[in-house]
Order: sequence, then structure tokens, then C-alpha cells
Amino acid sequence: MTADAKAAYDLARRLADPDRKKAANRAYYLANKEKVLAKNRQWALDNADLLVARRAEQRDRWLQYGRTYQPRHPEVGRLGTARYRARRQGNLTKSDWQDLLSEFDGRCAYCNVKSDSLQIEHMLPISRGGTHNKANVVPACGTCNRRKGALTPLEYLARTSPSL
Ligand SMILES: [Zn+2]
Repeated sequence: MTADAKAAYDLARRLADPDRKKAANRAYYLANKEKVLAKNRQWALDNADLLVARRAEQRDRWLQYGRTYQPRHPEVGRLGTARYRARRQGNLTKSDWQDLLSEFDGRCAYCNVKSDSLQIEHMLPISRGGTHNKANVVPACGTCNRRKGALTPLEYLARTSPSL
């Protein structure tokens, strides 16, 4: 059994209940990580211009959104954070996080880059009902974490590699 396949198997077992489907999705991704990542990379190479354009477009949209929304809702920043914390279920411990980092060999779960500054990534976003515990957390680099935002892993994969 390869290391990836073993990791996938262990994760699938650990996540089997109550989120069997999520576990299966993650297991598939881990078992086929090389293939998925290779496809992502090739797609990105083939579509470099499109990606640059899409990123610029998205940045403009967000800037525009921020400029028009924030001034009209000065309360949202603070309230939003408080609500986010209140809604956040689960208790990821420091040792859980250390376990995850070693499980993923100090690499981003999405792009496989090795990094000293990996961030806590909620696979199912908190805003979509995800919990703040080990079963729902993976390490991700800042770039992937920001890019994934409030998408589920499958939505994210579908977006980053439409040919998958
Ligand atoms: Zn990454």
C-alpha cells in the first residue's frame, strides 16, 4: 500500500461516521492525489492566460464589493466575527493540529507545497455548517486557503480543474 493510499484508508475509517460521503470524497482525493495534482498543473499550464484574467476579474469584483458594501454596513465586520465564533462548533486542539501537520508531512493538502506557515483550512467551511475539529480540518497554504474560500473540496476541485 502506498503512503497516500494508507493515509486515505486511515482517514476514510476515521471519518466513516457521521460524514461517510465527505470521507469518501476525501479518500478519493488522497488516493488519487498525484493524478489530481498533475491534472491541475497541466490544466493551469494550458490555461495560464485564462487564469490570470480570471484572477484579475475576481479581484476587481471583490474590491468593488468591499467598496460598496462596507461603508453601508459598518457593523458587519465586528458582528460577523462574533457570529462566526459563536457558530463555530468543535474544538481543534493544538495536538490535533500537530497530528494533522505530520499526517500531511507539513504540506498543503491542496497543492502539496511544503510550508512552515500552513493555515487551518476547514474542508467544509464553517459558513456551510462545517465544524472546527480534526475531522474537518486540513493544513493549507495561504494561497489555497484564500482561493478555496467558502467552497467545499469538490466544488473547489471542480473549479480548479474543470476537466476532472
Ligand atoms: Zn496550497
